[in-house]
Amino acid sequence: MTAWHAELAWLGPERGVAERVLVEVEGERVAAVTEGVDPPAGATRLAGITVPGLANGHSHAFHRALRGRTQRGPGDFWSWRELMYRLAATLDPDRYLELATAVYAEMALAGITAVGEFHYLHHDPTGRPYADPNQMGEALAEAAGRAGIRLTLIDTCYLRAGLDGRPLAGAQVRFGDGDADAWAERAGALRERPGVLVAAGVHSVRAVDPTAMATVAAWAAERRRPLHLHLSEQRAEVEACLAATGRTPAALAESAGVLGPRTTAVHATHLTGEDVARLGATGTTACFCPTTERDLADGVGPARALADAGSPLCLGSDSHAVIDLFEEARAVELDERLATERRGHHRPADLLQAATGSGMDALGWDAGRLAPGRLADLVTVGLDSVRLAGARPAAVDQLVFAATAADVTSVVVGGRQVVADGHHLLVGDVGAALGRAIAALDPAP
Ligand SMILES: [Zn+2]
Repeated sequence: MTAWHAELAWLGPERGVAERVLVEVEGERVAAVTEGVDPPAGATRLAGITVPGLANGHSHAFHRALRGRTQRGPGDFWSWRELMYRLAATLDPDRYLELATAVYAEMALAGITAVGEFHYLHHDPTGRPYADPNQMGEALAEAAGRAGIRLTLIDTCYLRAGLDGRPLAGAQVRFGDGDADAWAERAGALRERPGVLVAAGVHSVRAVDPTAMATVAAWAAERRRPLHLHLSEQRAEVEACLAATGRTPAALAESAGVLGPRTTAVHATHLTGEDVARLGATGTTACFCPTTERDLADGVGPARALADAGSPLCLGSDSHAVIDLFEEARAVELDERLATERRGHHRPADLLQAATGSGMDALGWDAGRLAPGRLADLVTVGLDSVRLAGARPAAVDQLVFAATAADVTSVVVGGRQVVADGHHLLVGDVGAALGRAIAALDPAP
């Protein structure tokens, strides 16, 4: 049994913030949460406010190497994608392991205790499987272990270059398994282990036809694992889908049996009112990635309407333009203010819930809530920085609207401390590790 004593702890949207909270941990799970007590001997004191582990619902680890390197000149999502493909072509399992370890360590420093890696870099750059066809996925699992965070490895099916059925070409050939049955066989060979869940991904309605989508959905349902897909990130995708099938991406996905309470639609930006109703009625989670969506000029999705329709919201740092879930959380509200010229669409506590409990649900982890029986993921944010000084007693509002990843001081994952005093206990100098890994790839200037 270990004991953690939080000066302040957020106990969820209903219960709010409590003082002097003792969290007792047995193995990797919370045994008891007691409010208003002094720290017993042997308890580790957590100064500031402690929240459940943050969940990063959508990640492409290798995009981290593009940070700040795609900001010159005009363009759009599609021109950015060419730069991303150039980078993808330089990765092999060893470089991927080094880069992903550093990126996941950066996430740990930001208070992220679980990440959903939307993984489709399956094969070598010529499209041939590695000796172990899951070598790239194994590199990600190893990386998460080294960085001390949980991984939901969303093994993603990616079969074609567009809705017209064009085959994969160029940098894309390493994404493809040929057909959905071959994808299922390869993904089925991935082993789960402590800290690693294997889930399913449909890259998009562009990349996977409805019959293949149904195969992926059945694979996930059989294993009772999450299913994620990119949905309506770009207007061009919606228009192409309507032209090719007469349906929106959400309607097409629904017809293939892809939507439902274990499904997460990533982005969900360009939706019709019917699409919003469809996602809500099926209980499909919407994963917003606002720092990426603004970086790629995607647009602003209907977060309030989705939540009203019944879709839980979660958050992802996606392309890692920044890795900061506080920034993602407030951006959901702030983007909607810009789009509507109105304030107050989302309560701060609901945004924090999107960053914690709802995100963990979408990734299949029994975490994200400080309650007995849950996985003991505890993230502490110091309240002494210039950003947060004076935050009490409305600490959650200021946490969501003013905290940054740099304010995280301590991170506990499954009862094991991974970050203390803002220092990564397993990886050490994370900045240096990132610098080495990115320099080895020599990405675009
Ligand atoms: Zn993505």
